[in-house]
This record gives sequence, structure tokens and C-alpha cells, in this order.
Amino acid sequence: MSEDRRSYDNAIPVPALGTLWISVLKSLQRLLQPAHFETWFRRSALASIEEPLAVVVVPNAFCASWLERYYMKELQTALREHMTLELVNREPLVRFSIHAEVPSVPFDAVPTTDVEGRPSVFAERSSTSSRHETPFATKSSDGYLRSTDGSINTLYTFEQFVTGRSNELAHAAAQGVVESPGRLYNPFFLYGSVGLGKTHLLQAASHAYLLKYPDARILYLPCETFINHFISALEEGNLNNFRHRYRGADMILIDDIHLLANKERTQEEFFHTFNVLYNAGKQIILSSDSPPVDIPSLQERLVSRFKWGLVAQIEPPDFETRVAILRRKAHYKGFELPLEVAHYIAENITSNIRELEGAVTKAIGVARLNHQQLTPELAREALRDFVTVAPQKRYPMSELINAVCRICNARLQDLQSKKRNKSIVLPRQLAMFLARELTTLSLDEIGSYFGGRDHSTVLYGIDKVRSLESGDVEVAELLRRIRKDLAAGNA
Ligand code: ADP
Ligand code: MG
Repeated sequence: MSEDRRSYDNAIPVPALGTLWISVLKSLQRLLQPAHFETWFRRSALASIEEPLAVVVVPNAFCASWLERYYMKELQTALREHMTLELVNREPLVRFSIHAEVPSVPFDAVPTTDVEGRPSVFAERSSTSSRHETPFATKSSDGYLRSTDGSINTLYTFEQFVTGRSNELAHAAAQGVVESPGRLYNPFFLYGSVGLGKTHLLQAASHAYLLKYPDARILYLPCETFINHFISALEEGNLNNFRHRYRGADMILIDDIHLLANKERTQEEFFHTFNVLYNAGKQIILSSDSPPVDIPSLQERLVSRFKWGLVAQIEPPDFETRVAILRRKAHYKGFELPLEVAHYIAENITSNIRELEGAVTKAIGVARLNHQQLTPELAREALRDFVTVAPQKRYPMSELINAVCRICNARLQDLQSKKRNKSIVLPRQLAMFLARELTTLSLDEIGSYFGGRDHSTVLYGIDKVRSLESGDVEVAELLRRIRKDLAAGNA
């Protein structure tokens, strides 16, 4: 058993098809009745995945045609959750391949079900963990996470989390919490806007904690689940069970706790859950879209408790981090993303990592489909939809150049010339930088406005300004004035 565990530990950072398939199966379990799941998916495997195509191995042709006929929708739904395809508006494609020897899924994928036959964390009683006084174990004896409603994504690990200035505190703190649970930062309150990695970090902490303490009773759940469980407990007069479950956890992670806003009775209940766990030295980790004080009508005593430990913010990633994330995601999909393409995407998608991920998936998909090299031009084509959603106002190039010339006291023909004195190079580079930000032109197109300079020269100029933007007061001031001039419509 411990051997099995070790090999699973090692497998976590590697997106082995088996691990991926297990995640897909867990999703399927939530969609299907247990008996159907058993019959049709117990003996299955993933042969390959090349988005959007997944090849699933089943033991015989009958099984293949049955799945094709009756379970395609569920299969696609489950696959979509793990392929990030919903972002690119494509359905996963499924083909079957037949292999009489396909083994049973090598883990006890089927959790105990509750009375209604729904998979349930809480209904689970572990016969092996008599050491615990509470009646549920949160992990199966073979070492797989069982602590959730099946909603843990096995790819959300600390190793897969790319850090930069915007998120390194949150990342380090989450790791610290797992190192010394209940002691270092309790509670650990993580906030930031959507798509910046909160769920990723919470799930990573769950994984890491379980790897460290395999017998731990850990609850990871979206806040909604807490609310819904509480409501059903009230309805069913089952509050004792409810309290037993939540207050018996060794670590609790509640995602999107801001959803407690305006839910007075649930807040009241959570307040007591919090106190019991806190007083018992159990680690509490919460995520939210805003800091505690900004959660609407959150009881003052909860606000103050949420601040007892560490409140950490995840901010939108800076340019370098975005590039690193893109390259990591691409690498993970077996693709080395050319730096220029990574720059292009990172320049155009700035606020949300989920979108970055979708963009890289789409760009790779298009390149593969067309058997083409992934150039910035192809990426631009592929990302049209993503890029136009950027809320940035656009300006015609002529207006933009006029504004730059006016604020910098430069002449258009100098910007277009070969001259390289500083008084000309800087305005030229500022104009390139702003053109990237405020027009939809490609690097080559921008270059054509400046005496036919090529895209690498333009990219160099843009990078140069970017590196000066935050540290060089003169450059920052010029940019501010040009933007203001443009917004005022002076050009
Ligand atoms: P949130 O919960 O804050 O809305 P998620 O945790 O769901 O955001 O993150 C959205 C997507 O972006 C996920 O697929 C996640 O893996 C990915 N992601 C977020 N931050 C990072 C990061 N720093 N490194 C790698 N991937 C990240
Ligand atoms: Mg989330």
C-alpha cells in the first residue's frame, strides 16, 4: 500500500494519462448512477489525448457502441472539465479503441454513496480508520483524494503554479500553512479576482496536505456546498450530523467564501464551525473575491476572525509571469511556445489566467490543425475573439502618432527615418508600445508605420518601454500624458 502511495506521489506533477483519466472518471461519477458507472466505465483507459480528440480504450466493440450511443454527452462533459476546451468553444471529440486486456481502473474510483445514491464525501465511513472518532475518513485507503465532492483537480498542484510578484506571497503562504497547519497562519484568507488561481492554490494545499498526512480528515469544498448542506440539514432536521462532519475536520478549505454574503443563518453556523475548528487548532483556509471587509453584509465578528491569521491577495500577473505561465501551459501540452508568440498573447490578455490558458490551447490547436508553425500572425488569427474582448479602447494609428508627436515634440518624418538619436528613438518606441496597446495592428503592421521596421525591432521597442514604464519617471509621465491627450480627443 505504501508503495502504491509513493508511486502516486511521484506521478502527481506529471500529467500522466492515467491521472488525467482518473480525474475524468471522477467527473463522470458525479454525472452517472453508480451502477451505470460501474458497468460502462470501470474497465476503461485513456489511450491518447490530442485536444480536442481523446481516444478512450474499452474492452469490446459492444461497449464502444454503447458508450457512443448513450454516454457521449456525459463523456464530453467530463472531458471538457479537464481539457480547458470550453474556452475555445469546441466540443471534445471522442473515439474508441478496443483492447480486450484493458484493465479495471486501478483505484477505487467509486466513493461510497449516500442514501439517494449520490456520491457523497460525508456519507463515507471508513472501516479502516477506526482511529478516528468522527465517522468519516476523507481519503480512501489506496491513497487517492477522497476528501471532496469529486471536485479536486489533480493538476492543481503547487508545482504547477507559476509564481511572480503578483502571487508569490499567496503561494508561499499556502505552502507554509501545509508545512505547519493550524499554527503559522490561521485562518489563511486568500482573495483576488476571478481566474487568478485561488481555487488552484486551495486544491494544491489539499493535495499537499493529504500527501503529508494521508489519514487527515480534510474538507475542500466550494462555499455553495456548505450553504446547500446547511440548508438540507435544516430541512431534514439533521443539524447534528452536519455539525459532526464539519467540526470534525482536521483542515477545512472553503472556496469563494464571499458567497456567504447576505446568508445570515449560514454565516451564523459558519461562525460556530470556525470557532470549534480554530480552538481545536485545525487549519482553516478560505478564498474570496474580495477582502473580508468588502464582503457585503458579512457579520463583523466573521470579518474580524477572517483577519486573525494571514490575509493574502493574488493580483493579476505581470507581463513576465504571464509569459512564464503561457510557456508552462504549452510545454505541458507537449508544445514549445515561441517567445514571440508568448509575448503576443501575454500582451493582449492581461487580466485573467483562465483566459491565458484558453488562448494558448486555442493557438496550439489551430497550429496543429493546419500543420503550421505557430507564428505571432497565426496566434493573432486564432485569438481574434479573445483579444477583442479586451476592454481597451482602440485608436486609429494616425491619432496615436499625432498624440505622440505633440507630447514628445517630435516630427512624424523623424519617427519614420533611420535616425537613432535618443530624442527620436524614445518617442518612436513609445508610439510602438502604445500602438500595441491601443490598436489591433500586428507587430509588422506597426513596423510599417515607422519606415518599414520589422517585427523584431518593434518587439524590442515595446519591451524597452515596458521595462522603463514602472521605473523611469520621465517615461511614465510621457505615457500618461499621451494617453490623456488621446482620451481627450485632441489629435
Ligand atoms: P480562481 O479560483 O481565482 O477564479 P482558478 O484557480 O480557477 O482561479 O484559476 C484559473 C485557471 O488558471 C486554472 O486552470 C489554474 O490552473 C490557472 N492558474 C491560475 N494561476 C496560475 C499560476 N500562477 N500558474 C499556473 N496556472 C495558474
Ligand atoms: Mg475559483
